[in-house]
Amino acid sequence: MPPKVKIFIWRLLHNGIPVRQCIQSRFHNVQDVCPRCGGERETALHCLVLCPFANQTWQLSNLNAASTVNNNQEPWRWWSKLSELARRQLQGRKELALAAMLAWTIWKGRNAKVFEGKDVPPQQMYA
Ligand SMILES: [Zn+2]
Repeated sequence: MPPKVKIFIWRLLHNGIPVRQCIQSRFHNVQDVCPRCGGERETALHCLVLCPFANQTWQLSNLNAASTVNNNQEPWRWWSKLSELARRQLQGRKELALAAMLAWTIWKGRNAKVFEGKDVPPQQMYA
């Protein structure tokens, strides 16, 4: 797994990825709506799992990421459930690395949208 992906997952587990909900709690004038779908508050879990754009990315794998999340869950709880699912369903570390890569891909796609105004299809982003 590339080091930047490991760091990203580490930050996710420590509530350290700068989604809008997290920025908004520090700077109250920032909108906290999801920059991709515009439908909900952008929490880490919305961004990485619940957002329709995230869902398209998970569909590139056989992992049913949406089944591992409830609203308001801590990111680390979600990640440990997803890891469990990956282990059971796909049998092995390789697949957990795949899950990490997909989460990272979603985050990259989100940033392409936020900082460059680009909508990149997940297939292209993952390549
Ligand atoms: Zn969204």
